[in-house]
Amino acid sequence: MTEQIQPHVHVTAEPDRPLKPALLRGWRRRCPNCGEGAVLHSYLKVHDTCAHCGEDLHHHRADDGPAYLTILLVGHLMAPLLLLVFEIYRPAPMVLFSIFAVGCLSLSLYLLPRLKGAIVAFQWARRMHGFG
Ligand SMILES: [Zn+2]
Repeated sequence: MTEQIQPHVHVTAEPDRPLKPALLRGWRRRCPNCGEGAVLHSYLKVHDTCAHCGEDLHHHRADDGPAYLTILLVGHLMAPLLLLVFEIYRPAPMVLFSIFAVGCLSLSLYLLPRLKGAIVAFQWARRMHGFG
């Protein structure tokens, strides 16, 4: 008598959550699950759980991702713009510096929390780092 051993395949991985709505909610700094509760407090700190739906958010590992994307976007927008403004208008150096210093800083401060929300939402949607 031969006894065949059947391989046990455990399908425990759940499918990914819809990415696009999660990213849009994250960009609006809202919970990727319900879109109501805030993801962030005190500018960049992620809430442990959503205040509205109770979804666990502490699993995120955003790390340097939001800063990297912010530098990538601000650099690629402002560097060509700086050259363009210099070539067309030839403003005084201090005028050029002042405008672009304020512009780069403002754009960075605008993008950073939104990109962090989007990265947390991406990790949530892809069930990364314990977002099960
Ligand atoms: Zn929520």
